[in-house]
Amino acid sequence: MARCSVCGAPAVAYIRYQRRYLCRDHYLEFVESKVERAIMRHRLVGKGDRVLAAVSGGKDSSTLLAVLSRLSRRIGFHVVALYIHLGIYEYSEKSREASIRLASQLDVPLIVFDLNEVLGAGIPELAKASKRPPCSVCGMVKRYVINAAAVELGVDAVALGHNADDIAVYNLKSFLNQDLEAISKLGVKTESIPGVAVGRVRPLYYVYEKESFLYSLLAGLPFLHEECPFVERRQMEVELKETVNQLEDKRPGLKLQMVSKLAKRVEDYPKPKGSIGRCPSCGLLSSGGECSFCRVTRRALGRPMGPVVREWFRRRAQELGLGASWRSSLS
Ligand code: SF4
Ligand code: ZN
Ligand code: ZN
Repeated sequence: MARCSVCGAPAVAYIRYQRRYLCRDHYLEFVESKVERAIMRHRLVGKGDRVLAAVSGGKDSSTLLAVLSRLSRRIGFHVVALYIHLGIYEYSEKSREASIRLASQLDVPLIVFDLNEVLGAGIPELAKASKRPPCSVCGMVKRYVINAAAVELGVDAVALGHNADDIAVYNLKSFLNQDLEAISKLGVKTESIPGVAVGRVRPLYYVYEKESFLYSLLAGLPFLHEECPFVERRQMEVELKETVNQLEDKRPGLKLQMVSKLAKRVEDYPKPKGSIGRCPSCGLLSSGGECSFCRVTRRALGRPMGPVVREWFRRRAQELGLGASWRSSLS
């Protein structure tokens, strides 16, 4: 039986690119220290900061919340989780349940935002009314709601669960399409724009998808194994993922090299052109005129719902004692 290279206990994982076997405890420590190094190296989160972690009920966001919750005690920052109920039938019910169990197991405050309750429509209805594919509307809605929550709760950063595989595949796809502006968005963090957008950080940037999955299993985290019924398998992404995995098999550590090099060079890529402004309806970030969220909800529901979402989070922030007073009340 293989033994842990650190302590000699029975091994549960082999890290090929380090040629090390690890037992359960040293494996959990290995993933946590990878995230901690990313946080320190890129100054993602500092002492006393407030971080909003977006959770979906899936494995990556479970790993994200668990590791952040552990590191928050060690580094001294504060974490609150946000789950968005998308109104996608049984899938959303199950993922809400997994997110609630996760937050309660980790003892992290969780805010559940229900699209049907606040807007009177979920993703299926918004997609139908706007004649757009569900994933396109869903991505836009999630980005909007997370940013609105972050602005109203007064957090310093939003933490997303993108892992090294996600970044490597999007990087390659964007490169093949010569979409250099898309590559410029694949860094470890984006900066905040005061009053309109809160910066996003990717603490799992150097964590492989497999590593994140094994972490959530070994740490006993609740997560949903099912996929959303609307999931789109884009053929090119599936093939690129297979290719990256084959290359990783031949050259262990290749994904890590890809994301490490990207993190160093991402500033050299051209940023999207166009002015950064405020949406006239909701006041949050817009690249010109009304933001996509206000436009889509105006078309689907008869009025722009950005202000309603902001007001909902403003009230939640007051009820939870968050918002502007959060730093002084928690630190
Ligand atoms: Fe949303 Fe598409 Fe993901 Fe389903 S698969 S949660 S619709 S982005
Ligand atoms: Zn060990
Ligand atoms: Zn708007």
